[in-house]
Amino acid sequence: MLIVRGAVKDYDWGVVDGLQKWSGEATGGPQAELWFGVHPGGPSPLVDYRGEPTGEHLADHFDIDAIPLLVKLLAAARPLSVQVHPPAAVAAAGWAAQDASDPRPVFSDPFEKTEMLVALGDFEAFAGWRPLHQAIDILLGLPGTAPAVSALESGDIASAIPLLLGASTPAAVRGLPDAARSAGLPAPEVAAYETVAQMYPDDAGAMLSPMLAYLTLSVGQAVYLPAGVPHSYIRGTGVEVMTSSDNVIRLGLTHKPVFVDRALEALVDDLEPQFMDTVYGELIWPVNSPFVVRMLESGIERIPAGAYRILLLIDGSARVVSDLAEIALRPGIAAVLSSDDPDAFVEADGLVAVVQSTER
Ligand SMILES: [Zn+2]
Repeated sequence: MLIVRGAVKDYDWGVVDGLQKWSGEATGGPQAELWFGVHPGGPSPLVDYRGEPTGEHLADHFDIDAIPLLVKLLAAARPLSVQVHPPAAVAAAGWAAQDASDPRPVFSDPFEKTEMLVALGDFEAFAGWRPLHQAIDILLGLPGTAPAVSALESGDIASAIPLLLGASTPAAVRGLPDAARSAGLPAPEVAAYETVAQMYPDDAGAMLSPMLAYLTLSVGQAVYLPAGVPHSYIRGTGVEVMTSSDNVIRLGLTHKPVFVDRALEALVDDLEPQFMDTVYGELIWPVNSPFVVRMLESGIERIPAGAYRILLLIDGSARVVSDLAEIALRPGIAAVLSSDDPDAFVEADGLVAVVQSTER
């Protein structure tokens, strides 16, 4: 059993000091994500029993075979990029074909990225495709979208995407909220389009947002996104669990490079987001998921050997006990157990994210 804290990511969409409670420091700038895992993009530092850094990282002790999951705390002040994560075969082939010296690499690693967001408060997201008739209703209210609309009328999303990106003008993006309102969408969805239009007036990717389904999560609810499903988180704070990959292929709403053709290759037609109507305490186990999560508020639970396990304290206090060690967690500190580590018990008084792999 090892103890880690998160590696901070200060992406521009983060909340100013939004993760301070868990990062332990105010920076006066955006704090977007804290990473708990071995991914080279954000290796987690090991800490001692008092929470002081030991100078080592989790990745010094384990590789991805032992630590197959990446857990994050995420705080979004505004929409993240419209993105899709590659399925395993696309990631492996893309990584192998990629020139290691490419200054604008598409792939960060050779692995699939399948993810789930568990809301720690009200959370808004675009996830998966809207019913096409509804997307069409919105797009009909925007100038220059007739070719894309006719592609969508024949169910051809892959053709509609580049047509919409090509139809982007400042006037069209400004028109998003009115078009959403005219299409009869409820006020929170119209407000989401107001946010997109305000924050990304010159971003062609804004034109793709009408194609995405809108979703709100309340505290404890979750959305599971298999690789290949398009999405864009809009706002909120949550725990994010994923396979240990940073492969994000962006279509828009970002200053980072956009790779439309590669994103089209990564899309999977017959997969959808899974909305998990859970509350704290319930096991969150999406169909075909490589992980399960339980947000434990109180009581004692056995966390058996035989799977990778990470227990991240969100609120209050918790103890993790095994034959080998006993650890008192503080918010933002996680206990990590490989599948070979013995059974452990967690005693929670607050909120602990208990994450376990299901594949090994
Ligand atoms: Zn994502």
